[in-house]
Amino acid sequence: MDLVGVASPEPGPAAAWGPSKCPWATPQNTISCSLADVMSEQLAKELQLEEEAAAFPEVAVAEGPFITGENTDTSSDLMLAQMLQMEFDREYDAQLRREEKKFNGDSKVSISFENYRKVHPYEDSDSSEDEVDWQDTRDDPYIPAKPVPTPKKGFIGKGKDITTKHDEVVCGRKNTARMENFAPGFQVGDGIGMDLKLSNHVFNALKQHAYSEERRSARLHEKKEHSTAEKAVDPKTRLLMYKMVNSGMLETITGCISTGKESVVFHAYGGSTEDEKEDSKVIPTECAIKVFKTTLNEFKNRDKYIKDDFRFKDRFSKLNPRKIIRMWAEKEMHNLTRMQRAGIPCPTVVLLKKHILVMSFIGHDQVPAPKLKEVKLSSEEMKEAYYQTLHLMQQLYNECTLVHADLSEYNMLWHAGKVWLIDVSQSVEPTHPHGLEFLFRDCRNVSQFFQKGGVKEALGERELFNAVSGLNISADNEADFLAEIEALEKMNEDHVQKNGRKAASFLKDDGGPPVLYDE
Ligand code: ADP
Ligand code: MN
Repeated sequence: MDLVGVASPEPGPAAAWGPSKCPWATPQNTISCSLADVMSEQLAKELQLEEEAAAFPEVAVAEGPFITGENTDTSSDLMLAQMLQMEFDREYDAQLRREEKKFNGDSKVSISFENYRKVHPYEDSDSSEDEVDWQDTRDDPYIPAKPVPTPKKGFIGKGKDITTKHDEVVCGRKNTARMENFAPGFQVGDGIGMDLKLSNHVFNALKQHAYSEERRSARLHEKKEHSTAEKAVDPKTRLLMYKMVNSGMLETITGCISTGKESVVFHAYGGSTEDEKEDSKVIPTECAIKVFKTTLNEFKNRDKYIKDDFRFKDRFSKLNPRKIIRMWAEKEMHNLTRMQRAGIPCPTVVLLKKHILVMSFIGHDQVPAPKLKEVKLSSEEMKEAYYQTLHLMQQLYNECTLVHADLSEYNMLWHAGKVWLIDVSQSVEPTHPHGLEFLFRDCRNVSQFFQKGGVKEALGERELFNAVSGLNISADNEADFLAEIEALEKMNEDHVQKNGRKAASFLKDDGGPPVLYDE
């Protein structure tokens, strides 16, 4: 097949290499073949360089740092660079489409360049929004094919006419032909059409570059890119964050505060919003951006929190995993809003965008407030913190109708002499089928922490449970206590079964589920 149409240098951004990386641009002083070979190689090189310089001078320059991946600039610069890369890739694909069209012409049988695209359809179309975006990557179609193995027979001919695979001419021609195996967008000049003999050295350098380019492209689109890896977020998330800065809502995103199992939290300086219809919210000077991880694995074990939460029950069954992850962010937003209304010290919600929640930053000058776990409090402060916590838990239960469900010294911050509650995406209403068990676990964490911290006044876990819930469970050992809790939950379940969504009598009805946020 004649591939000249594909492989010949076309004007466009397809020369995806930096000046130092391009093997064509590196003088080869070690070529050990005939003068004719050298001539044609140099000619090809020169032509290539000329054409590159004419067609895309700025691309070649701008490309450098992205390939090396050694850009250790600030995260926002990196982000900008990656944004540029995305645009670049999109242009590349447009060019590839043109080449594909030209290559196939009117032919009934056409060859698709799909696999060589840098931006894949599911990424740039909104219609794919609802698709599950994590899959097994074992059969990744974007991983380049293995290099062609060396043929078993390393020679041709007989007797003294034997030509081995090391023969320069044969080998050079073979090398040139093998360039066909490179991606169609990979520019190899007119070499394939000519009687060009590439030395092994040149060929190997070129092959190496072609594969590393393909790998870069494949890496960019590996499904795992969709997860928010440590210190980094997937391109889509990056884009959303970039848009927040672009719109002026955020001034700058300064860096990552925390990478947890389920979320990555960034610090940002707030900007301003001129959007009049959006009750012109004042953006806090400092914000925290919580990005919920878009991988399924970490969230699997959280099903139990949301599945049985009647506020989300109807929606849960119909949703794909990505939507469920957005619901975590949504849930955190609702819960924070409720807490804010009750006057509980907690972050204020600024904005929810898909799986990204922007809220006020608890801390100062980019330094987040310490967790109770980390901070060294005086015994007086410790006692103070304990009573605050007790009060917070009561408010949460009675005024917000919520159980934190992950309350511990890790999710309480000490800021401005107060205990602040964070991390409430998993919080549930007490009528949740396991709500009281969650509350008991919270109480145990809190009791143990303050008792170990030397607060003599700290109630034991069972007393604390009763003090928070207003229930009067009298069991004097944990097993019985838990049995009673479970019995209550069971009673509540039966009640819900009979009466629909109404809460059971042991809890006051807060007027039904809250209105859900509409995107
Ligand atoms: P995770 O589910 O990963 O535990 P968290 O909401 O607890 O998520 O956030 C992780 C960490 O990020 C917290 O321990 C805290 O140090 C920091 N953090 C989260 N939200 C804020 C905020 N609004 N202000 C300051 N720091 C925050
Ligand atoms: Mn946490």
